[in-house]
Amino acid sequence: MHAPAAVGTALPLADRHGRVATDLRVSLTDRCNLRCSYCMPAEGVPWLPGPQLLDDQEILRLLRVAVERLGITEIRFTGGEPLLRPTLVELVRTAATLRPRPQLGLTTNGIGLEMSAGALASAGLDRVNVSLDTLDPERFVRLTRRDRLAEVLAGLAGVRAAGLAPVKINSVLLHGVNDDEAVPLLEYAVEHGYELRFIEQMPLDAQHAWSRSRMVSAEEILGRLAERFTLSRDPVARGTAPAETWLVDGGPARVGVIASVTRPFCGTCDRVRLTADGQVRNCLFAREESDLRGALRAGATDVELAEQWRAAMLGKLPGHGINDPTFLQPDRPMSAIGG
Ligand code: SAM
Ligand code: SF4
Repeated sequence: MHAPAAVGTALPLADRHGRVATDLRVSLTDRCNLRCSYCMPAEGVPWLPGPQLLDDQEILRLLRVAVERLGITEIRFTGGEPLLRPTLVELVRTAATLRPRPQLGLTTNGIGLEMSAGALASAGLDRVNVSLDTLDPERFVRLTRRDRLAEVLAGLAGVRAAGLAPVKINSVLLHGVNDDEAVPLLEYAVEHGYELRFIEQMPLDAQHAWSRSRMVSAEEILGRLAERFTLSRDPVARGTAPAETWLVDGGPARVGVIASVTRPFCGTCDRVRLTADGQVRNCLFAREESDLRGALRAGATDVELAEQWRAAMLGKLPGHGINDPTFLQPDRPMSAIGG
């Protein structure tokens, strides 16, 4: 009933502003075992009810449609915490059989990764980003409300041991909490051969507590790094990557900054998102979603699913609008969208 599309027949996910999405972020769950303060309140958020979540077959079918019919070349599993999905290794293994073979990535808080990194690499995972905001165990508790820093560091080591290079670290700095850790985090990353990227805090927290004045900007981060390191422009072209990168002390180590708020890169965005409950979002900050789960469960064909997905991309706005006075934060927090 769902015959594979012939290779080369994909019609891309184009929007009305000249961009084409080739990078799909898939949220595998909205649940998490941490409570990072810039993401969730201490008590967590009401989790999505189980029947609303896509099951593995539904996810894999949508991935196949995305790769075969919509030109998706890169798939990143995220959440919530994607390692909480018990079938993650199997999902990766099956996604790796899609043709043309997509690049497969994972964004995780690293808890449990020490045990699963080898199996994920064997299943076909290509890249891993681990989120790590502090190297201080007490601050880690303050930031994430859980005492699990050692597991995250072990997870990072596990990824490296599994040969998944380059291992990337994502860090969010918060004033008065860890804003003095830009340099120690980069020293740690350089020493261990990890590639560090700082992310400006965005208005995507469930509590709606973000404020521009409290955000640590790219300029401030680079200023702090310059006190200790010599940063020079990365000769590798940025392309559509959200991170601007610099060579650290002449290289080969690199550091990146994702300045979504102060230096938006919406004009080159190539991303599209699928939530754990099967909604397509054409932007992190979109206020509308397209219900692929409903269509899928109502019996839509692959061709119909692809058409609905393409239509959803046409409504992508030229920019996220964070810097507009009329900006409204999306209803869903980052953990439920898939960061
Ligand atoms: N739980 C996984 C993790 O933490 O890596 C995957 C999901 S998390 C939502 C993905 C990324 O989003 C993490 O690197 C996290 O630091 C980042 N993030 C979460 N809330 C954010 C916010 N309000 N602003 C900027 N980045 C945020
Ligand atoms: Fe969980 Fe990731 Fe959000 Fe932290 S940033 S609470 S690890 S989903």
